[in-house]
Amino acid sequence: MNQKKVLFTIFGATGDLAQRKLYPSLFRLYRTGSLAESFAVIGTARRPWTDETYRDIVKETIAYLNPTEQEAVEFASHFYYQAHDVNDTHHYDTLKILANKLDEQYQLEGNLLFYLAMSPNFFGTIVSHLESQGMLSSDGYHRVIIEKPFGTDFETANKLNDEITSVFSENEIYRIDHYLGKEMIQNISAIRFANNIFESMWNNRYIDNIQITIAENLGVEDRGGYYDKSGALKDMVQNHILQVLSLLAMEPPVAFSEKEIRAEKIKALEAVRIYTPEEVKENFVRGQYDTGLLNQESYTGYRQEPGVDEESETETFVAGKFTIDNFRWSGVPFYVRTGKRLTEKGTRINIVFKQVPINLFKSEVGKKCEQPTLEPNILTIYIQPTEGFSLSLNGKEVGPSFDMLPIQMAYRNSTETMENTPEAYEKLLLDALNGDGTNFTHWHEVAQSWRIVDVIRQTWDENTPEFPNYPAGSMGPDAAFELLKKDGFKWIWTP
Ligand code: NAD
Repeated sequence: MNQKKVLFTIFGATGDLAQRKLYPSLFRLYRTGSLAESFAVIGTARRPWTDETYRDIVKETIAYLNPTEQEAVEFASHFYYQAHDVNDTHHYDTLKILANKLDEQYQLEGNLLFYLAMSPNFFGTIVSHLESQGMLSSDGYHRVIIEKPFGTDFETANKLNDEITSVFSENEIYRIDHYLGKEMIQNISAIRFANNIFESMWNNRYIDNIQITIAENLGVEDRGGYYDKSGALKDMVQNHILQVLSLLAMEPPVAFSEKEIRAEKIKALEAVRIYTPEEVKENFVRGQYDTGLLNQESYTGYRQEPGVDEESETETFVAGKFTIDNFRWSGVPFYVRTGKRLTEKGTRINIVFKQVPINLFKSEVGKKCEQPTLEPNILTIYIQPTEGFSLSLNGKEVGPSFDMLPIQMAYRNSTETMENTPEAYEKLLLDALNGDGTNFTHWHEVAQSWRIVDVIRQTWDENTPEFPNYPAGSMGPDAAFELLKKDGFKWIWTP
């Protein structure tokens, strides 16, 4: 096992993300041997914790992974805490002294990985202080992992990017989209490029439409304050949905490498049509959940959630049609949908293939009667909570007639397999340690995604929505179903 030598500095070390995701992921890397003796973690945040308190918290966050007492103590001994206000330059001097000491103590060869697990408002300040206070003068690599959201529109993202790239170069910046660390998202490329039956048909001659759904059954929980300023379009479509779309739509890369894959994803995003306001109105719908009943449980409406404005116009649901203007996809709608308080939690992709040119089958031999309808062939990729894929085909129903029966061939990864696979954050941390940016978003992807989404946002902001417009526990407003119906299609997944 190639053991990594590295000093992690985690900004926002007391926060939710650090505790729920980062410490358990670091522990898994420790357990599998990617991290061993030569690593140390400096956690910084405002709270005046001691190293002991910090180590106790770290141990608590990994308790569910059932470490032995010795494992937990040894792992946590690599963690150091530094109370710090990111706006105060002097604190970076203290950080630097600690960083140098740990570098020597653990023989880290000057490798520095900064994780900015804080509000993006601070990213610019942090990176500029890292440089001005001489924290980036060590001999090893200097990398920075950045959490979402990357800006709130193209302009703010561009400004943020300028701030970060004035200190770190593009290949030192790892913009997290944790969807890209998910097993089945990475499997999209395997399904496409390792199976000739799919790749040869992966175009507008054989595919009718593609559907991407990211459904949540939860509401905003305790994130109402944050969510109300963001909404589903910025929270989900700009990043996760457009990333999934680019993986589905990209041309086959000449090699399965960071450089080649990113280049193809960027080209795919550049081919997504940036709509006019009129086209936005035709192709995108928004929703907000009202009170509702599901499985005999009643749920409050979005406007009654804690932290949410009583007259909020924030959307908790988006459905839309993207159009990709290139040879491969011209004429194939990419329908996307995401929302909160929907019927069921699940992320799924449905690839709907075109029908055979003529339906030859009659339900009774020799008699003139209605033809049985043929269902389209559908390839479904299940991302979460179950992971796997299925293919629906038409077969003959057993019996004297020639009725068609849709048959589903399904493969699901078993629970045991999934328990032993690395978590998204674990994989992404390891990628960053390896210097592999394939599963992170390049600036050009972020920028293009904002250009695509900004016009939708601006068009919506000019009109007052009729909210709330879907009951909690449903699959969104009627308009989301109309969107496909007017094209002669329907949502394949209707839980
Ligand atoms: P959080 O509010 O729980 O934690 C914020 C951290 O920042 C705390 O450690 C706090 O002490 C520190 N902090 C705030 N102001 C500071 C200052 N002036 N100086 C020093 N430290 C300061 O936030 P979170 O949920 O952990 O999210 C962190 C980042 O990760 C955000 O960008 C968020 O959008 C992103 N993110 C979080 C999640 C998640 O599951 N929590 C998921 C995706 C993305």
